[in-house]
Amino acid sequence: MQISQPNFLTWFKNSRLLDKKEGAALVGLQSNFAKDWVQDKYYKVILGALRNLDDSTKKVDFIVHNGPDLPPKLAEKSKTPATSSQLMFNELKIDPETNLNPKYTMSSFVVGGSNEMAFAAAQGVLKEIGRKYNPLFIYGGVGVGKTHLIQAIGNEAKNLYQNRIRVKYVPSEKFINEVVAGMRNKRMETIKDRYRNTDVLIIDDVQFIGGKERTEEEFFHTFNALYENNKQLILSSDRPPKFIPTLEERLRSRFEGGMICDISQPDYELRVAVLKAKAQEKGINMPAEVIDLIAAKVKKNLRELEGVLNRVIFYQQAKNQEINIKMADQVINESIQSPAQQNLNHQQVVKVVSDHFEISPADLIGRSRKKEIVEPRQIAMYLLRDLLDLSFPFIGEKMGKRDHTTAMYAFEKISQDVDKNQQLSNKIMLIKEKLTKS
Ligand code: ADP
Ligand code: MG
Repeated sequence: MQISQPNFLTWFKNSRLLDKKEGAALVGLQSNFAKDWVQDKYYKVILGALRNLDDSTKKVDFIVHNGPDLPPKLAEKSKTPATSSQLMFNELKIDPETNLNPKYTMSSFVVGGSNEMAFAAAQGVLKEIGRKYNPLFIYGGVGVGKTHLIQAIGNEAKNLYQNRIRVKYVPSEKFINEVVAGMRNKRMETIKDRYRNTDVLIIDDVQFIGGKERTEEEFFHTFNALYENNKQLILSSDRPPKFIPTLEERLRSRFEGGMICDISQPDYELRVAVLKAKAQEKGINMPAEVIDLIAAKVKKNLRELEGVLNRVIFYQQAKNQEINIKMADQVINESIQSPAQQNLNHQQVVKVVSDHFEISPADLIGRSRKKEIVEPRQIAMYLLRDLLDLSFPFIGEKMGKRDHTTAMYAFEKISQDVDKNQQLSNKIMLIKEKLTKS
């Protein structure tokens, strides 16, 4: 009860209590990775649970245990990290057969709080291709690393299984175009074969498939054919299946039948780690205070972060400037525009938040105390403060003539909850993204 279902399935599904004597419990887990992880993250939870059953339990030990009914360990092999020079050379060589960009590897993917779950699921997929998490559905906002991670699975699968496995990566726009062209030229069969002949099919940004009837139909058939043959499907989207509005029900439930993970906005630590990794990859020496500054100010996503880094490098190399705080600050100011600068106003925030939660603006600022309305309302107040820097009395006034303390409370509450609750943080990120696009 203390662990979410996806986490449970990832870490504990095939775990077992192997032995227990003199107060020490021995728990078998599937892999070294799981063992380290569980030991680190769940030790107390497990000890507590065991104590509840038997209060003589004093400690828990973990070992890797692959019983006869457990899968062989393939993950071990995947640990050879790519060297940094390799990464640089690989940058633009897209494999024509798989359509994968070799620069996206599992070892160059930096793991942090916002993506650890998705990363773990990716490792799970690699361990048992087609059988464990199928389909794997990864969602999250722009630039958080979805494409990187799903392509990395493809590259790693190729490494691990060499030619025994056929991998194909396709952005969903390309898939849609092919289906449309195939219909026009009456050559659907070739397209079907192309996809049905793969062992791992990776489709990026599937939200675009929703609503296009014929592609959806074709996608569904391809999907089913692959799925029924235990082929691995890996999908990414900017939102969870249930929020792809036009997605056909049977397709949605197929998606939901597998493993769904989100990648949320990177926190400060991850931003620092990614910056360091990318700077090193590019052979650039960045002073620690510059890294800190960029990580503190460039918060939206990792693509933006990389953009700033590239620009810093450009300034250094083309303009011969020293990399220091002043230069970095200038680059940051040029690179990111705050929503307030983009003429966002409070009406737009109210509208986008109401739309997002499918309630009316009148309800959003109205008097209802229903949970489905109170949270969106608090989110709206939070955003008005966070994005537009409006005063609490003004926010209270615009949000249905409420007292400024209500607006303050809402802001405080959501600010705190965002740090603890990934789902909430994700919702807010989606809304912010809509706002910056609106
Ligand atoms: P998305 O597909 O979610 O929009 P991308 O996968 O294109 O995002 O990521 C944007 C950029 O950030 C890429 O250059 C990618 O390599 C980098 N990136 C994202 N997540 C990570 C990570 N965890 N570690 C290292 N680089 C990352
Ligand atoms: Mg992408």
